[in-house]
Amino acid sequence: MPIHRISSFGFVNAYLVPEEDGFTLIDAMLPRTHKKILAAAEALGAPISRIALTHAHGDHIGALDALVDALPGVEVRISARDARLLEKDKSLDPDEPQVKLRGSIPGARTRPTATFAAGDRVGSLEVHAAPGHTPGQVAFLDPRDGTLYCADAYSTLGGVATTAKANWRFPLPAMATWHKPTALESARALRALDPARLAPGHGPVVEAPGAAMDRAIARGA
Ligand SMILES: [Zn+2]
Repeated sequence: MPIHRISSFGFVNAYLVPEEDGFTLIDAMLPRTHKKILAAAEALGAPISRIALTHAHGDHIGALDALVDALPGVEVRISARDARLLEKDKSLDPDEPQVKLRGSIPGARTRPTATFAAGDRVGSLEVHAAPGHTPGQVAFLDPRDGTLYCADAYSTLGGVATTAKANWRFPLPAMATWHKPTALESARALRALDPARLAPGHGPVVEAPGAAMDRAIARGA
């Protein structure tokens, strides 16, 4: 399965995942990137059929409203937990760590057409819980080729790192992380999926990432 990464300023990623009915777009980048995303799909010759959001931080949902305007009828999916962040609801559940959410939570006008939870599928992609960066962050595993779209559970800019501990080369994802112990648990859970390829929210795609993920977890602990 070819990896179609769209990158903004070299450090914010979205991905077009081929499906029988077109593309699943993973994440919606920064505001005003919708034209770039639409042009990428057009150049590849297929429509965007659905938008699957890993979490509701501003650099992952920035172009969502503009994309939905441009793609009538497009399916929009996000976890039920982070759907609340899309509505700018920053409240915590009683069973969650009582720590303030971090990172940019600008909300969006768009409401999901449906939410998902761990164990569901979006197109061909398996939904895996990856809380910590936000309470409802998810990662997507493509079982067709072992690509793990890991959101901000790991970043690869300046080397593979978890967001449980700031990587001095690129500290932003860790700075925006809500609860670092939970983020580390999620990094471990995603490592156990033994992905063939790591496709993060920030940074380049990394092939055969297992050993680098192990080192990142060891540093984060
Ligand atoms: Zn984020």
